[in-house]
Amino acid sequence: MYIQDQLGEIRKAISGAAARAGRTAESITLLAVSKTFPVSDILQAYADGQRIFGENRLQEAMEKMPQMPQDCEWHLIGPLQRNKVRKALEQGFALIQAVDSLKLAATISRIAGELGITAHILLEVNIDGEASKHGFTPQQLEEEWEALTELPGLDIRGLMCIPAPVDNPQDARPAFAALRTLAEKLRERGPLPLPELSMGMSHDFEVAVEEGATIVRVGSAIFGKRDYT
Ligand SMILES: *Cc1c(COP(=O)(O)O)cnc(C)c1O
Repeated sequence: MYIQDQLGEIRKAISGAAARAGRTAESITLLAVSKTFPVSDILQAYADGQRIFGENRLQEAMEKMPQMPQDCEWHLIGPLQRNKVRKALEQGFALIQAVDSLKLAATISRIAGELGITAHILLEVNIDGEASKHGFTPQQLEEEWEALTELPGLDIRGLMCIPAPVDNPQDARPAFAALRTLAEKLRERGPLPLPELSMGMSHDFEVAVEEGATIVRVGSAIFGKRDYT
C-alpha cells in the first residue's frame, strides 16, 4: 500500500499548494518518475489511477512501456542523444522534456518530418547557470528563439528545468520563478502559447506549484528510495 499512500499524500500536497497560489489542482499534472523502479511498482501506481509516467533513459523506457497498459502516457525526461532521436520518436512518447539545444531540436524536427509526425517537446533551461548542466541558458534561448519556433514538425509546449539541489525547498523558489518569467517573456514575443512549465521534484514540488508549475516530476516521494546498483 506504500505507493498508493504516497500518491494520495502527494495529490493532497499538490492541491494545497495550488490553492495557496489561487490555482486549481486540475491545472497541474503529476508525472510519476518511474526510472529504476520495476514494472510491478508502476502497476501499483496505475491501480491507483496514475497514468502519466516519466523515464530518463530511452533503453529502460523501451523495456517498460510495452509491459504497461496501453492507456499510459510516457514522458522522456532525461537527456537524448541525437543518434537516438529516431528510436525515441518511434517509441511514441507523449512529451520529450529535455530538449537542450537547437541542434537537438533541429534533428527532432527533421526526423519527425521523415516519420510524418509532430513531436511534442519541452525546452530544458539551465536556469541557475550551473556550468556542468544541460540546457539552454536563458540568453541562448532568447537568441535562438526564432530559429526554434521556425522548425517544422515540432510542438514546443513549454519549458523545463532541473535546478541545483537545495536542502531547503524554499531555496529553489528563485529558480522556479525565473523559469516562469522567462516563459512569460517568450510568450510575449510569440508565436507560441507555451502552456507547460515542468519544474519541481519530490523535494520541492510544492514550491514549484506555487511558482506556476504545470507539470511536477515526482519519483522517490512516490516509489521510495532509488537503488542504482
Ligand atoms: C529522477 C528525476 C526526477 C525525480 O526525482 P525525485 O527526486 O526522485 O522526485 C525528476 N526529474 C528528472 C529529470 C529526473 O531525472
